[in-house]
Amino acid sequence: MNGNQHLFIPGPTNVPEPVRQAMNLPMEDMRAPDFPEFVSGLLTDLKKAYRMENGRMFIFPSSGTGAWESAIQNTLRPGDKVLMSRFGQFSLLWVDMAERLGLDVEVVDVEWGKGVPVDEYAKRLEADTRHEIKAVFATHNETATGVTSDIAGVRGALDACGHPAMLFVDGVSSIASIEFEMEKWGVDLAVSGSQKGFMLPAGLGLLGVSDKALEANKAVSNAGMARCYFSFEDMIKLNDTGYFPYTPATQLLRGLRCSLDLLLDAGMDSVWARHKRLAEGVRAAVAAWEGCELVARGPEWASDTVSAIYVPENVDARDVISGAYYKYQTSLGTGLNKLAGRAFRIGHLGSLNPVMLCGAISAAEMALVDAGAKIEPGSGVAAAQAQYRDTTPATVTASAKAA
Ligand SMILES: *Cc1c(COP(=O)(O)O)cnc(C)c1O
Repeated sequence: MNGNQHLFIPGPTNVPEPVRQAMNLPMEDMRAPDFPEFVSGLLTDLKKAYRMENGRMFIFPSSGTGAWESAIQNTLRPGDKVLMSRFGQFSLLWVDMAERLGLDVEVVDVEWGKGVPVDEYAKRLEADTRHEIKAVFATHNETATGVTSDIAGVRGALDACGHPAMLFVDGVSSIASIEFEMEKWGVDLAVSGSQKGFMLPAGLGLLGVSDKALEANKAVSNAGMARCYFSFEDMIKLNDTGYFPYTPATQLLRGLRCSLDLLLDAGMDSVWARHKRLAEGVRAAVAAWEGCELVARGPEWASDTVSAIYVPENVDARDVISGAYYKYQTSLGTGLNKLAGRAFRIGHLGSLNPVMLCGAISAAEMALVDAGAKIEPGSGVAAAQAQYRDTTPATVTASAKAA
């Protein structure tokens, strides 16, 4: 292999060199007397990335899916009614989990390419005058289709009718990349993972929990779902002393320390702004490609962390992806579920810059032409260049670099 293998999937994302170095250390004692200080700093700073001052953060040695499970098991009872929507592979899997854990799920199916149906949620919440719905679920960023939903809108729907349901948000591919406001939006449980916006290997499930959800946890303590590994109670008891109820993934925690420093030094607002700029270059490229279009059904849905792209009718997206991989050493994201063969994805979250994305667009362009697309070679790269030349800040200070 010559040069780098290029990774443009929407997670795992590229790990910045300082983060990789921070994880390259000898094994350490997770019961050392100075470990609690390290843990407490991590939990405090994670809250800053989530934009919360109250409530608490949990770090599980799992992927994001584990944090999904923990959120449900610790705050709801079997048979509880919840409102969910399904519009891509991840929102679909979340519904599946909720059903398998015994919740009574009211599902709203939405056309793939759109997101959480805020108006429909508002209608159903308003009709639920007896407050049977205990929780409302929203997938903030549907990674399969490249669609971002309006979480503040969901909060507005709850508030408009004074509905007390908890708000669960899947923020796995949004938190630490695009605007996310745990407290301002009144989110009660927010799930993330280490391998997307946090720019780490997979292996940490992150969960932000509001004070209201912590109260719900106390209320279900005896009547709730069986839980052990993912129990809030066990985690709280040990976290309060600065330790974990089982062996923590210490190297990942050291990496998380470094990635939080990068994110918070840059400032979350500037991290979000960078993702928007990067995404706009990719969208400009897609617009320039004859016969290609975003899966997102309009600019209001288009995600700043991942673009899912329909290929022209005569092209199989699987050929584009395998061509990019074998010929151009570039990993693009696959079309998941019903998008298999019809779409590929470009992940544009984490540690990336415009020149890297011009490379991704160039590889996709060559692979598209190889697979039979009648696009003009170079058209996407040219459009992205124009976009990036117009919008990339000129001054590269140390903090702008990190952003
Ligand atoms: C990646 C992802 C998940 C699953 O997370 P894992 O870490 O793979 O368990 C869930 N939801 C969304 C939106 C994702 O992007």
